[in-house]
Amino acid sequence: MEQLDWKNLSFGYIKTDYNIRCYYRDGKWSSPEVSDSEYINVHIAATGLHYGQEAFEGMKAYMGEDGKVRVFRWEENASRFIHSAEGIKMAPVPPELFREAIFMAINMNRKYIPPFGSGATLYVRPLLFGSGAEVGVKPSAEYTFLVFVTPVGPYFKGGIKPVNMMICRDVDRAAPLGTGTFKVGGNYAASLRALISAKEQGFSSSIFLDAREKKYIDECGPANFFGIKDNTYITPKSESILRSITNKSLMEIAEKLGIKTERRRIPVEELETFEEVGACGTAAVISPIGKIVDPDMNRIYEYCRDGEPGKLTMQLYKKLVGIQNGDEPDEFGWMTVVE
Ligand SMILES: *Cc1c(COP(=O)(O)O)cnc(C)c1O
Repeated sequence: MEQLDWKNLSFGYIKTDYNIRCYYRDGKWSSPEVSDSEYINVHIAATGLHYGQEAFEGMKAYMGEDGKVRVFRWEENASRFIHSAEGIKMAPVPPELFREAIFMAINMNRKYIPPFGSGATLYVRPLLFGSGAEVGVKPSAEYTFLVFVTPVGPYFKGGIKPVNMMICRDVDRAAPLGTGTFKVGGNYAASLRALISAKEQGFSSSIFLDAREKKYIDECGPANFFGIKDNTYITPKSESILRSITNKSLMEIAEKLGIKTERRRIPVEELETFEEVGACGTAAVISPIGKIVDPDMNRIYEYCRDGEPGKLTMQLYKKLVGIQNGDEPDEFGWMTVVE
């Protein structure tokens, strides 16, 4: 392999040597198999292709200063993967098989794990889809679970910087009683019109409102939303958003730092009262938001007027990234060494 330029990696796909595959047939999961191919041979009538039976996860592995590789809260990803599978009637992957497959994928591609201190990480992508043939609408009898890894650069190259977002009122990513809490490709497909339109207008992402009333903040494209005011971290409670593990972790850190936390509905107008706002998820950890534009209501909400992320945002960000990178003690017991 040619030497990768760790400092200039983007958040994109780079081929690694191996990926892991497991098959569910006759009511049983196979043991993980190693493959060196980037391709899969899929039946033309697979339900994953026709009826959207597909779910995924996203997590990162970090090289420690001690040369050990650690993953962040993998049990949380494993249980959300089960939640997603059950939500669209797929065979769930048992947590022990999930752990075995991600550890194998990481271990077999050790040379692609970015070094300690580079800011880059190894992104781990578990994927589950219906691979059995059906023509009528029904869940597949067969499933494929695969895990690939790819090295990714730090989301913000020149350090964490505020981004601008646009409130979207003409597209919903998920219906109130739909699939919003499942990490399924269908929600992403539904969100693309809004995302591309926001990008074309110069925004980094669109902010979705609740699909029922269009009154409350749901989430920011593929990341959860939070606002901070009066020493309180507030994040939306909604029946149609994904439960971000980053968000959950930031709340636990906030509590420890003496910042109050609330999970409740956030009316759009409340944006005016926040001192700091941001989006959070595995990819960027936190994207501080500098400006939110609501074109249909002719409103602009501004934060970070000095171009810098807010104080509490930075405090939370540094603590979480510190724990993940191994610069801070793992006081919550979130990191697992990949043996
Ligand atoms: C994956 C995802 C997130 C972020 O979740 P993390 O567990 O923090 O990575 C947020 N929203 C959506 C829609 C997602 O798919």
